[in-house]
Amino acid sequence: MTVDLLVAGLDHAVVGPPPFEVRHDVTIAIDGGRIISVGGADLADVEARRRIDGRRAVAVPGFVNGHTHGAFALDRGLEPELPLDRWLPHVFAVSERVDPDVAFCSAQLAYTEMVRAGFTACVDHHYAQAHRGNALAVAAAADSVGLRVGVAATASDLGDGAVSSDEAVARLDELVDATRGSDGSVVEPWLALASPGRRESPERCRDLRAWADDRGVRTTYHFAETTAWRQLAADAGSSSLAHYLLTAELLDDRSVLAHGVWFEPGDLPVLAEHGVWLSHNPVANGYLGDGIAPMRSMLDAGVSLCLGTDGPNCSGRADPFEMMRTALILARANGGDAPFIESRTALELATWGGARAFGAADTGALVEGARADVTIVSLDAPHLQPVHDVIWTLVWSVVASDVRTVVIGGQVVVDDGECVTVEVPAVIDRAIAAAERLRVR
Ligand SMILES: [Zn+2]
Repeated sequence: MTVDLLVAGLDHAVVGPPPFEVRHDVTIAIDGGRIISVGGADLADVEARRRIDGRRAVAVPGFVNGHTHGAFALDRGLEPELPLDRWLPHVFAVSERVDPDVAFCSAQLAYTEMVRAGFTACVDHHYAQAHRGNALAVAAAADSVGLRVGVAATASDLGDGAVSSDEAVARLDELVDATRGSDGSVVEPWLALASPGRRESPERCRDLRAWADDRGVRTTYHFAETTAWRQLAADAGSSSLAHYLLTAELLDDRSVLAHGVWFEPGDLPVLAEHGVWLSHNPVANGYLGDGIAPMRSMLDAGVSLCLGTDGPNCSGRADPFEMMRTALILARANGGDAPFIESRTALELATWGGARAFGAADTGALVEGARADVTIVSLDAPHLQPVHDVIWTLVWSVVASDVRTVVIGGQVVVDDGECVTVEVPAVIDRAIAAAERLRVR
């Protein structure tokens, strides 16, 4: 038998569902977009159309970015450095100027960066309202790169760029029909609520959620990023943030809540009970002065966690290793007697957890039958040796540029450190030109 791809002789592989197991001298066979075998020397002689040398490298399930904004890559460093609530008006002013060409160039740049860093999927919260074609442009950028993207489009009814109810549904239907009808697309259509209660009225939230249920679409929304959300909940007559979400019918396992820095201890069991996913975005929370999300308490309460970077304009870059490392640094720096969150937990949240938040339950683990979303990281550099515990090395020593190969659905998207699905110099040139157009508008 001849398989599509054989990653042969890996020094290490992080295999199985959690608790992850580290195996040595591993060979992974991939065919038809799926992992068909995770073995050892027994697979060494299997015929393959493509063979990748795994020596001095480690294979892990692909990383999933639980929260980002691909359309905000061209304004990296453009907005003033301010806390979230004073920073957002500048971001919305930029977002009003995003047209389909800018959206495509920005998202393509962001997705190229993400795959080179080892991400195989992301939830992209997209402010789709400035131009009707923007969400479709972002989807086209995802397909060009080959990164799995949940293109989550907003259709808000409050604030600048509000759209009518009919227009909202028409635009969202257009996204679903265009992406689901396209053979081999890596795009999954999602619904985004920019900020329930602030940018979407309760009626709009309810209507769009009914639409999402009807079309089998997952939802993501920003929440509890600063203390201001507590006032929002109080003004609506809710006794807590969790109560507010419950009455707004936003707590379920088909939803990803971005941030959640300011929940109170009594809120967390409610989030856990309803299975809502929470994307913890530690770098952006620090950048914007949001505060430090209580990661230890969330884990103890059984909240379903994944990790995210947030947009390039409030995180600087998309690096899954920085995301894991910063989450642990902030959680441990909080001090106290609680046990440290271990490196393996961060790795599980960034891969297995993210895959489930994304709704892709057949990814997130290197096991037979899983879709082949695999990241292979080189260990051949001074900062990476010696390796006593490869999960420790992945979280504390590896940086994005150590990623050697990324396979998404069996397709080699990053080969020897470079993204091979697009012409990277051309992607950068187009992004620079589009950023200039955005700046002068
Ligand atoms: Zn965000």
